[in-house]
Amino acid sequence: MQIDIVSVFPEYFDVLNLSLFGKAQSKGLVSVHAHNLRDWTHDVHHSVDDTPVGGGAGMVMKPEVWAECLDDLLGLEPREVNADGESDGTGNAEHQPASDSASADTASDSDSQAPVHNLDTVLIFPNPSAPLFTQRDATELSHAKRLMFGCGRYEGYDARIPEYYRAQGVDVREYSIGDYVLNGGEVAVSVMLEAITRLLPGFMGNPESIVEESYTGSEALLEHRQYTRPAVWRGMGVPDVLLSGDHGKVDRFRRDEALARTDAIRPDLIEQLDCAQLSKADRKTLMALGWEVSAEHPRRLNRE
Ligand code: SAM
Repeated sequence: MQIDIVSVFPEYFDVLNLSLFGKAQSKGLVSVHAHNLRDWTHDVHHSVDDTPVGGGAGMVMKPEVWAECLDDLLGLEPREVNADGESDGTGNAEHQPASDSASADTASDSDSQAPVHNLDTVLIFPNPSAPLFTQRDATELSHAKRLMFGCGRYEGYDARIPEYYRAQGVDVREYSIGDYVLNGGEVAVSVMLEAITRLLPGFMGNPESIVEESYTGSEALLEHRQYTRPAVWRGMGVPDVLLSGDHGKVDRFRRDEALARTDAIRPDLIEQLDCAQLSKADRKTLMALGWEVSAEHPRRLNRE
Protein backbone atom coordinates (compact mmCIF):
# COMPACT_ATOMS: atom_id res chain seq x y z
CA MET A 1 0.00 0.00 0.00
CA GLN A 2 1.32 3.42 -0.94
CA ILE A 3 0.60 6.15 1.60
CA ASP A 4 1.06 9.88 1.03
CA ILE A 5 0.47 12.31 3.85
CA VAL A 6 0.36 16.06 3.31
CA SER A 7 0.90 18.22 6.37
CA VAL A 8 2.58 21.43 7.50
CA PHE A 9 4.31 19.23 10.11
CA PRO A 10 5.55 16.23 8.10
CA GLU A 11 8.11 15.42 10.85
CA TYR A 12 5.15 14.43 12.99
CA PHE A 13 5.06 11.19 11.01
CA ASP A 14 8.63 10.17 11.87
CA VAL A 15 7.03 7.94 14.51
CA LEU A 16 5.85 5.71 11.69
CA ASN A 17 9.40 4.34 11.57
CA LEU A 18 8.78 2.72 14.97
CA SER A 19 7.12 -0.49 16.10
CA LEU A 20 4.95 -2.61 13.82
CA PHE A 21 4.52 0.20 11.31
CA GLY A 22 8.30 0.55 10.99
CA LYS A 23 8.58 -3.19 10.43
CA ALA A 24 5.82 -3.09 7.82
CA GLN A 25 7.81 -0.41 5.97
CA SER A 26 11.00 -2.50 6.11
CA LYS A 27 9.08 -5.52 4.80
CA GLY A 28 7.75 -3.41 1.92
CA LEU A 29 4.13 -3.88 2.97
CA VAL A 30 3.62 -0.14 3.14
CA SER A 31 5.52 2.74 1.65
CA VAL A 32 4.97 6.10 3.36
CA HIS A 33 5.81 9.60 2.14
CA ALA A 34 5.07 12.61 4.35
CA HIS A 35 5.02 15.78 2.23
CA ASN A 36 5.33 19.35 3.46
CA LEU A 37 2.42 21.37 2.08
CA ARG A 38 4.62 24.49 2.23
CA ASP A 39 6.79 23.03 -0.55
CA TRP A 40 3.97 23.99 -2.94
CA THR A 41 3.85 27.66 -1.87
CA HIS A 42 5.45 30.46 -3.90
CA ASP A 43 5.60 33.38 -1.47
CA VAL A 44 8.49 34.19 0.86
CA HIS A 45 6.44 33.35 3.95
CA HIS A 46 5.33 29.97 2.56
CA SER A 47 1.80 30.77 3.68
CA VAL A 48 -0.88 28.12 3.41
CA ASP A 49 -3.76 30.02 5.07
CA ASP A 50 -5.88 33.12 4.67
CA THR A 51 -8.67 34.90 6.55
CA PRO A 52 -12.17 33.36 6.42
CA VAL A 53 -14.46 34.75 3.73
CA GLY A 54 -17.49 36.19 5.54
CA GLY A 55 -15.42 37.05 8.61
CA GLY A 56 -14.80 35.22 11.84
CA ALA A 57 -11.90 34.11 13.97
CA GLY A 58 -8.87 32.16 12.82
CA MET A 59 -7.48 31.27 9.43
CA VAL A 60 -8.53 28.83 6.72
CA MET A 61 -6.22 26.71 4.54
CA LYS A 62 -6.09 28.08 1.00
CA PRO A 63 -7.30 25.97 -1.91
CA GLU A 64 -4.55 27.06 -4.35
CA VAL A 65 -1.66 25.56 -2.37
CA TRP A 66 -3.54 22.34 -1.63
CA ALA A 67 -4.52 22.00 -5.27
CA GLU A 68 -0.97 22.44 -6.57
CA CYS A 69 0.20 19.79 -4.14
CA LEU A 70 -2.62 17.32 -4.75
CA ASP A 71 -2.52 17.79 -8.55
CA ASP A 72 1.16 16.91 -8.42
CA LEU A 73 0.70 13.85 -6.23
CA LEU A 74 -2.35 12.62 -8.15
CA GLY A 75 -0.97 13.49 -11.58
CA LEU A 76 -3.94 15.71 -12.46
CA GLU A 77 -4.21 18.79 -14.67
CA PRO A 78 -5.88 21.96 -13.27
CA ARG A 79 -9.51 22.30 -14.45
CA GLU A 80 -12.47 24.61 -13.97
CA VAL A 81 -15.55 23.23 -12.20
CA ASN A 82 -18.94 24.55 -13.34
CA ALA A 83 -21.89 25.60 -11.17
CA ASP A 84 -23.22 22.01 -11.14
CA GLY A 85 -19.97 20.83 -9.58
CA GLU A 86 -18.88 19.15 -12.82
CA SER A 87 -15.41 19.46 -14.26
CA ASP A 88 -15.02 20.73 -17.80
CA GLY A 89 -13.07 18.84 -20.45
CA THR A 90 -12.25 15.19 -20.54
CA GLY A 91 -8.91 15.06 -18.78
CA ASN A 92 -8.35 13.41 -15.42
CA ALA A 93 -10.62 10.58 -16.53
CA GLU A 94 -8.34 7.93 -15.11
CA HIS A 95 -9.64 8.84 -11.64
CA GLN A 96 -13.01 7.18 -11.58
CA PRO A 97 -14.89 7.10 -8.27
CA ALA A 98 -14.34 3.72 -6.62
CA SER A 99 -18.09 3.11 -6.43
CA ASP A 100 -18.31 3.27 -10.25
CA SER A 101 -15.04 1.73 -11.29
CA ALA A 102 -15.31 -1.14 -8.85
CA SER A 103 -19.01 -1.86 -9.06
CA ALA A 104 -18.46 -4.95 -11.16
CA ASP A 105 -15.86 -6.18 -8.76
CA THR A 106 -17.56 -5.85 -5.44
CA ALA A 107 -17.54 -8.56 -2.83
CA SER A 108 -18.61 -8.79 0.77
CA ASP A 109 -15.90 -8.99 3.41
CA SER A 110 -17.04 -11.73 5.74
CA ASP A 111 -15.02 -10.23 8.59
CA SER A 112 -16.67 -6.86 8.70
CA GLN A 113 -19.55 -6.78 6.24
CA ALA A 114 -17.83 -3.71 4.83
CA PRO A 115 -18.17 -3.55 1.06
CA VAL A 116 -14.87 -4.58 -0.46
CA HIS A 117 -14.03 -2.71 -3.61
CA ASN A 118 -10.71 -3.01 -5.27
CA LEU A 119 -10.05 0.56 -4.30
CA ASP A 120 -7.37 2.33 -6.21
CA THR A 121 -6.55 5.76 -4.76
CA VAL A 122 -8.53 7.25 -1.91
CA LEU A 123 -7.99 10.84 -0.76
CA ILE A 124 -8.89 11.34 2.91
CA PHE A 125 -9.34 14.57 4.84
CA PRO A 126 -9.77 14.35 8.62
CA ASN A 127 -12.51 16.72 9.69
CA PRO A 128 -14.35 16.92 13.05
CA SER A 129 -17.60 17.81 11.29
CA ALA A 130 -17.55 14.73 9.03
CA PRO A 131 -19.05 11.25 9.56
CA LEU A 132 -17.33 9.13 12.20
CA PHE A 133 -14.49 6.86 11.09
CA THR A 134 -15.28 3.27 12.12
CA GLN A 135 -13.75 -0.20 11.97
CA ARG A 136 -15.92 -0.77 8.92
CA ASP A 137 -14.19 2.13 7.14
CA ALA A 138 -10.80 0.84 8.26
CA THR A 139 -11.60 -2.56 6.78
CA GLU A 140 -12.78 -1.11 3.50
CA LEU A 141 -9.77 1.20 3.18
CA SER A 142 -7.33 -1.62 3.94
CA HIS A 143 -8.15 -2.83 0.40
CA ALA A 144 -6.95 0.39 -1.26
CA LYS A 145 -3.77 0.48 -3.32
CA ARG A 146 -2.95 4.06 -2.39
CA LEU A 147 -4.14 6.29 0.43
CA MET A 148 -3.53 10.00 0.46
CA PHE A 149 -4.22 12.04 3.59
CA GLY A 150 -4.55 15.82 3.82
CA CYS A 151 -4.02 17.18 7.35
CA GLY A 152 -6.02 20.29 8.14
CA ARG A 153 -4.84 22.99 10.55
CA TYR A 154 -6.20 26.33 11.83
CA GLU A 155 -9.98 26.56 11.31
CA GLY A 156 -9.72 23.82 8.70
CA TYR A 157 -9.39 23.74 4.91
CA ASP A 158 -11.40 25.54 2.23
CA ALA A 159 -14.52 23.42 1.64
CA ARG A 160 -14.00 23.51 -2.13
CA ILE A 161 -10.88 21.34 -1.94
CA PRO A 162 -12.61 17.97 -1.36
CA GLU A 163 -15.47 19.04 -3.65
CA TYR A 164 -13.06 19.87 -6.46
CA TYR A 165 -11.32 16.48 -6.33
CA ARG A 166 -14.67 14.67 -6.22
CA ALA A 167 -15.54 16.54 -9.40
CA GLN A 168 -12.30 15.19 -10.91
CA GLY A 169 -13.52 11.64 -10.22
CA VAL A 170 -11.24 11.08 -7.21
CA ASP A 171 -12.63 8.96 -4.37
CA VAL A 172 -12.56 11.58 -1.61
CA ARG A 173 -13.56 10.83 1.98
CA GLU A 174 -13.84 13.09 5.01
CA TYR A 175 -13.86 11.49 8.44
CA SER A 176 -14.02 12.55 12.06
CA ILE A 177 -12.23 10.38 14.60
CA GLY A 178 -14.50 11.48 17.46
CA ASP A 179 -16.72 14.15 18.91
CA TYR A 180 -13.98 16.53 19.99
CA VAL A 181 -11.72 19.07 18.26
CA LEU A 182 -7.97 18.58 17.82
CA ASN A 183 -5.49 21.23 16.72
CA GLY A 184 -4.72 19.51 13.45
CA GLY A 185 -5.29 16.47 11.30
CA GLU A 186 -1.96 14.78 12.12
CA VAL A 187 -3.24 12.87 15.16
CA ALA A 188 -6.40 11.90 13.32
CA VAL A 189 -4.39 10.60 10.36
CA SER A 190 -2.17 8.57 12.69
CA VAL A 191 -5.26 7.02 14.27
CA MET A 192 -6.85 6.13 10.93
CA LEU A 193 -3.59 4.89 9.47
CA GLU A 194 -2.97 2.53 12.37
CA ALA A 195 -6.52 1.17 12.28
CA ILE A 196 -6.27 0.57 8.52
CA THR A 197 -2.76 -0.83 8.16
CA ARG A 198 -2.94 -3.33 11.04
CA LEU A 199 -5.55 -5.11 8.91
CA LEU A 200 -3.12 -5.63 6.01
CA PRO A 201 -2.13 -9.28 5.58
CA GLY A 202 1.33 -9.74 7.12
CA PHE A 203 1.22 -6.55 9.19
CA MET A 204 0.55 -8.16 12.59
CA GLY A 205 2.97 -10.71 14.01
CA ASN A 206 0.02 -12.97 14.85
CA PRO A 207 -2.80 -12.56 12.32
CA GLU A 208 -5.20 -14.33 14.73
CA SER A 209 -5.03 -11.34 17.05
CA ILE A 210 -7.17 -9.19 14.76
CA VAL A 211 -9.89 -11.79 14.22
CA GLU A 212 -11.67 -11.55 17.57
CA GLU A 213 -11.61 -7.93 18.56
CA SER A 214 -14.07 -5.24 19.48
CA TYR A 215 -16.06 -3.90 16.50
CA THR A 216 -14.70 -6.73 14.34
CA GLY A 217 -16.67 -9.40 12.52
CA SER A 218 -20.19 -9.28 11.19
CA GLU A 219 -21.56 -8.52 14.66
CA ALA A 220 -19.23 -5.74 15.82
CA LEU A 221 -19.65 -6.34 19.57
CA LEU A 222 -17.34 -5.05 22.29
CA GLU A 223 -14.84 -7.69 23.32
CA HIS A 224 -15.00 -9.61 26.62
CA ARG A 225 -12.51 -8.56 29.33
CA GLN A 226 -9.00 -10.05 29.21
CA TYR A 227 -6.86 -11.45 32.04
CA THR A 228 -3.36 -12.88 32.31
CA ARG A 229 -1.41 -14.57 35.10
CA PRO A 230 -1.19 -14.64 38.10
CA ALA A 231 -4.61 -16.12 38.81
CA VAL A 232 -4.75 -14.08 42.02
CA TRP A 233 -3.17 -10.64 42.11
CA ARG A 234 -3.35 -8.33 45.13
CA GLY A 235 -6.24 -10.41 46.38
CA MET A 236 -8.13 -10.17 43.10
CA GLY A 237 -8.90 -13.41 41.28
CA VAL A 238 -9.84 -14.03 37.68
CA PRO A 239 -13.26 -15.60 36.98
CA ASP A 240 -13.09 -19.31 37.96
CA VAL A 241 -14.45 -20.49 34.63
CA LEU A 242 -11.35 -19.18 32.83
CA LEU A 243 -9.23 -21.59 34.89
CA SER A 244 -11.56 -24.56 34.32
CA GLY A 245 -9.92 -25.78 31.12
CA ASP A 246 -13.43 -26.32 29.70
CA HIS A 247 -13.21 -24.50 26.34
CA GLY A 248 -16.95 -24.65 25.72
CA LYS A 249 -17.68 -22.97 29.05
CA VAL A 250 -14.91 -20.41 28.51
CA ASP A 251 -16.32 -19.51 25.07
CA ARG A 252 -19.83 -19.15 26.48
CA PHE A 253 -18.62 -17.03 29.39
CA ARG A 254 -16.74 -14.73 27.03
CA ARG A 255 -19.64 -14.47 24.63
CA ASP A 256 -22.03 -13.61 27.47
CA GLU A 257 -19.57 -11.01 28.73
CA ALA A 258 -19.27 -9.49 25.27
CA LEU A 259 -23.05 -9.23 25.02
CA ALA A 260 -23.40 -7.82 28.56
CA ARG A 261 -20.64 -5.22 28.08
CA THR A 262 -22.04 -4.16 24.72
CA ASP A 263 -25.50 -3.90 26.26
CA ALA A 264 -24.16 -1.68 29.06
CA ILE A 265 -21.76 0.50 27.04
CA ARG A 266 -22.92 0.44 23.40
CA PRO A 267 -26.55 -0.69 23.19
CA ASP A 268 -26.65 0.79 19.66
CA LEU A 269 -24.46 -2.14 18.56
CA ILE A 270 -26.90 -4.67 20.06
CA GLU A 271 -29.68 -3.01 18.07
CA GLN A 272 -27.79 -3.80 14.87
CA LEU A 273 -27.50 -7.54 15.54
CA ASP A 274 -29.29 -9.89 13.20
CA CYS A 275 -31.59 -12.01 15.40
CA ALA A 276 -31.63 -14.79 12.78
CA GLN A 277 -27.88 -15.23 13.28
CA LEU A 278 -28.08 -15.48 17.08
CA SER A 279 -27.76 -18.84 18.83
CA LYS A 280 -30.33 -20.03 21.33
CA ALA A 281 -27.86 -19.26 24.13
CA ASP A 282 -27.27 -15.73 22.77
CA ARG A 283 -31.01 -15.08 22.70
CA LYS A 284 -31.35 -16.32 26.27
CA THR A 285 -28.56 -13.98 27.41
CA LEU A 286 -30.04 -11.01 25.59
CA MET A 287 -33.52 -11.70 26.93
CA ALA A 288 -32.05 -11.82 30.46
CA LEU A 289 -30.46 -8.45 29.73
CA GLY A 290 -33.87 -7.02 28.81
CA TRP A 291 -33.94 -7.39 25.01
CA GLU A 292 -36.73 -8.71 22.87
CA VAL A 293 -35.24 -10.93 20.13
CA SER A 294 -38.12 -12.13 17.99
CA ALA A 295 -37.95 -9.40 15.33
CA GLU A 296 -35.22 -8.81 12.72
CA HIS A 297 -33.06 -6.90 15.23
CA PRO A 298 -33.10 -6.92 19.05
CA ARG A 299 -35.35 -4.34 20.66
CA ARG A 300 -34.75 -3.10 24.17
CA LEU A 301 -37.69 -3.64 26.49
CA ASN A 302 -38.42 -0.95 29.04
CA ARG A 303 -36.22 -1.47 32.04
CA GLU A 304 -36.32 0.00 35.54
N1 SAM B 1 -13.12 24.72 12.78
C1 SAM B 1 -13.20 23.28 12.80
C2 SAM B 1 -14.52 22.85 13.42
O1 SAM B 1 -14.96 23.50 14.37
O2 SAM B 1 -15.09 21.83 12.98
C3 SAM B 1 -12.06 22.67 13.59
C4 SAM B 1 -10.75 22.74 12.87
S1 SAM B 1 -9.47 21.89 13.74
C5 SAM B 1 -8.92 23.09 14.87
C6 SAM B 1 -8.18 21.82 12.56
C7 SAM B 1 -8.04 20.49 11.83
O3 SAM B 1 -7.82 19.45 12.77
C8 SAM B 1 -9.23 20.03 11.02
O4 SAM B 1 -9.27 20.63 9.75
C9 SAM B 1 -8.99 18.54 10.93
O5 SAM B 1 -8.08 18.23 9.90
C10 SAM B 1 -8.34 18.24 12.27
N2 SAM B 1 -9.28 17.71 13.28
C11 SAM B 1 -9.60 18.28 14.45
N3 SAM B 1 -10.44 17.53 15.15
C12 SAM B 1 -10.65 16.42 14.43
C13 SAM B 1 -11.45 15.25 14.62
N4 SAM B 1 -12.19 15.08 15.70
N5 SAM B 1 -11.43 14.30 13.66
C14 SAM B 1 -10.70 14.47 12.55
N6 SAM B 1 -9.93 15.56 12.30
C15 SAM B 1 -9.91 16.52 13.23
